[in-house]
Amino acid sequence: MIKVLKFGGTSVGSAKNMKMVANIVTAEKATVTVLSAMSGTTDSLVRISALSVQEGKSAEIAETIQMLRDKYSTCIAELLDSHKAEATAKMESVLELIAKESADFKEYTSERLILSQGELLTSAIFSMYMQEAGYKTVLLNAPDFMHTDEEQKVDTTFLEANVKNLVNNKDTFYITQGFICTNYRGEIDNLGRGGSDYSAALIGGALNADEVQVWTDIDGMHNNDPRVVEGTYPIRKMSFDEAAELAYFGAKILHPATIQPCKDKGIPVFLKNTMDPAAEGTKISSEDDNSRTFHAVAAKDGITVIRIYSTRMLMAYGFLRKVFEVFEKYRTPIDMITTAEVSVSLTVDNTKHLEEIEEELKAFGKIEVEQNNTIVCLVGNLEHSQKGLAATIMNSIQNIPLKMISYGASHRSIAMLVETQYKKEIMQSMNDKLFGENNHA
Ligand code: ADP
Ligand code: ASP
Ligand code: MG
Repeated sequence: MIKVLKFGGTSVGSAKNMKMVANIVTAEKATVTVLSAMSGTTDSLVRISALSVQEGKSAEIAETIQMLRDKYSTCIAELLDSHKAEATAKMESVLELIAKESADFKEYTSERLILSQGELLTSAIFSMYMQEAGYKTVLLNAPDFMHTDEEQKVDTTFLEANVKNLVNNKDTFYITQGFICTNYRGEIDNLGRGGSDYSAALIGGALNADEVQVWTDIDGMHNNDPRVVEGTYPIRKMSFDEAAELAYFGAKILHPATIQPCKDKGIPVFLKNTMDPAAEGTKISSEDDNSRTFHAVAAKDGITVIRIYSTRMLMAYGFLRKVFEVFEKYRTPIDMITTAEVSVSLTVDNTKHLEEIEEELKAFGKIEVEQNNTIVCLVGNLEHSQKGLAATIMNSIQNIPLKMISYGASHRSIAMLVETQYKKEIMQSMNDKLFGENNHA
């Protein structure tokens, strides 16, 4: 049985937690263990990179590096015995590299190199612990097999060919880094924040694994965002499509790209709690749960609406194509879209090229741009044939002003756009009114 297990930042966040991780890895007989950096590391590394391009920040940079030193030294002291000196030397070389890159900051490469150090150090420490505990352990360097192309897409053919050769011994525990990769220029890069989940799914897919397990700090996918809403509960099983939709629309527990490689190969994904391994967690597979109408809610912040008013749209064909071409040119994905007779509203979360897009769209008519919005997405069995569904949903949120509604593209979800100030209220309101006691799994 091939199992790929991934552990997030909190799961490897201290010596005590790393010991729990080792227990899980060995009890599950994990084939490959994919690790994030210890919690807080990547945030610190992002901070160091940001400070590096500012004047007069060397004291703050040194302070942040010292914070990392304290964190990792404590972990090494509590976790390791015979490998203490080796781990400390590794940590010091990592911190030295970070300080050096920060002092001589090169625009494209330095941030990526700095960001990769958390996963590299954490996985090195954990693999030393596994060796001390007497397990046959091999530490794999993820950038050797995780390669991305110019479009930042992972080369799955290369991954498959290489990872299969590396993972070839049944009684060995293979440990590797999530998040990091090699880009098309041959430099170290990453798959985006929270990308370790995606790494694990890709490795699972490449190995044709029997299962992928994502171990984190909560007992599975909840029906609503527990950081925002009170009274959420774990969902026992959900389909790949639902999980993908929730991840895409902001359920932080999974990186948005995680589901696809597993869905492609039919590999179930289990979401489990490192702090409570006995808790059932969530099984994500091709099986649908048809017993309930409403399954879960997720929200995505930082959404910008672009409204285009154009009389040229009236009865015209080809208008939307021209609009879409502008977004395509600037590689900006559109999340939601609604159309009326002489206007179209679109939402984007990537505003890198907003000014250029706005400028080009002006050729079509009047443009309005509104920032600070949130998409709230409700997933479930929202069949088109069901009567009264829209009324039930709208009744549950009657006090909240809605800016856009999108339903009909799939029978699995309805998305609503609100100003971010209403996010908590709309999510709590749905939770209270659509997810009563009877709706629990
Ligand atoms: P890790 O570091 O293990 O990758 P993350 O912080 O990325 O963990 O993801 C786990 C967190 O996701 C949880 O602690 C929880 O606060 C948050 N979260 C947001 N939405 C959900 C949801 N629907 N179900 C479960 N957790 C969620
Ligand atoms: N350490 C990386 C991050 O914080 C990747 C991950 O945790 O998945 O974004
Ligand atoms: Mg995560």
